[in-house]
Amino acid sequence: MSDSDAPIGAPGGASARPDTDLIMVCTSDIAGQLRGKAMPRRSVEARRGIGVGWTPTNTMITSFGPIAPTPWGPLGDLMLVPDFSTRVDLALPEWGLDESFVLGDVLTLEGDPWDCCLRGQLARALDRLERDHGLTLVASFEHEFHYSGGEPQPGLGYALRAFRRLGAFPNRLMAVLDRAGLALDTFMPEYGPGQCEVTIDPKPALRAADEALILRELTRATARGLGARASFAPIMDPDGVGNGVHLHFSFRDREGRPVSWNPAREHGVSAPAGAFLAGVLKQLPAMLALTAPGVPSYLRLTPNRWSAAFNNLGLQDREASLRICPVFGTELDDETRAARFNFEYRAADAAASPYLLLAAVVNAGLSGLDAGLATPSVTRQNLAELDAAALAALGCERLPTSLAEALDRLQASDWAREAFGPVLIDAYLRHKRNEIEIMDGLSPKEICARYALAY
Ligand code: GLU
Ligand code: MG
Repeated sequence: MSDSDAPIGAPGGASARPDTDLIMVCTSDIAGQLRGKAMPRRSVEARRGIGVGWTPTNTMITSFGPIAPTPWGPLGDLMLVPDFSTRVDLALPEWGLDESFVLGDVLTLEGDPWDCCLRGQLARALDRLERDHGLTLVASFEHEFHYSGGEPQPGLGYALRAFRRLGAFPNRLMAVLDRAGLALDTFMPEYGPGQCEVTIDPKPALRAADEALILRELTRATARGLGARASFAPIMDPDGVGNGVHLHFSFRDREGRPVSWNPAREHGVSAPAGAFLAGVLKQLPAMLALTAPGVPSYLRLTPNRWSAAFNNLGLQDREASLRICPVFGTELDDETRAARFNFEYRAADAAASPYLLLAAVVNAGLSGLDAGLATPSVTRQNLAELDAAALAALGCERLPTSLAEALDRLQASDWAREAFGPVLIDAYLRHKRNEIEIMDGLSPKEICARYALAY
């Protein structure tokens, strides 16, 4: 990882800043928020490797104000240490945008990763994937969100007219992401009025998760510069369409060669990739609370919404939790095909920290690799039409239908406690159960409105 703190940003903008200008050092937490403390630019050298002070109870701050019952109370000290390879420094006053932040790791005073540092959890899972199975992961996060500006109109899903009605926003967003060093892939006006989707190129897994956070913040900042809001809430309205986060991933060996594809095997899924996918499907009911962590996440994860309601592997199925993605192009050579072959995890939304989301997928995949599980069979029917017995015959189940149920499954999972450690799981359960209490008595519509603001 680069240790450079070279300014990234607009020529004459970022680099011309006074040295009293602040850089916010941030951590992505259980609530799925980026929180931190700022330091003047002139302190960067002195604070390199030390960062800013942090407190365990900060991770119990919910997205709605109250602090969940904390195991730490007022006790404890931690360091939030920036990783300058993640630095964003964009001063674009003509677009009402001034962003200077860096992502960091939360360490104990001894310099070890803190149990509830989600970036550290991901790094640990990725290390084990490489150490024990010789695999590295390449990933990309697809994000859906709602833009409040423009002139949203129902019935214009994916329409050129919807795109036009978004006004200056899409092009400006592309320019901002590009200046932050993200590699643009596509933008689309999604199905819902005002709903958009943005995708960027795959990267090594930790960087991909960093970029997911950078993308969310810069999308919000760009919208704000236009006097509007971008909301990444799991669903904006109980009767509407959800905002999914779809995680694409594929495997490389230690030399960087793609190893997900094996044309000799069914659907081209290599044996290690198949074992990983089997692990994800097996742990999905227990890990769902980590990747779909909001109360309204479960309004999104219902059949016939193109999200994910069952722990199945699909081929050309946009309701499967896990999907084998088609590789487009009829005349590709094997090398290109192998590099593009990837899988998609769809049971996630942006109320989840991308670090925890990806750590959950990797840890679940590791459970499949450790046990040498067989590649799961692909389902071919609409699972919403099957009863529990028919689902069980396919090796599937309906995923938890509420956050409360998902948290009970997480709590009951020995795998989760082992993979993430008891400290994180305990804090997570306390935090999220408090979030359910905060929503108590509100209608689904009111709950969606609270999350629309929070995310
Ligand atoms: N909006 C859907 C979701 O909640 C996804 C639609 C799509 O396939 O892009 O995941
Ligand atoms: Mg989409």
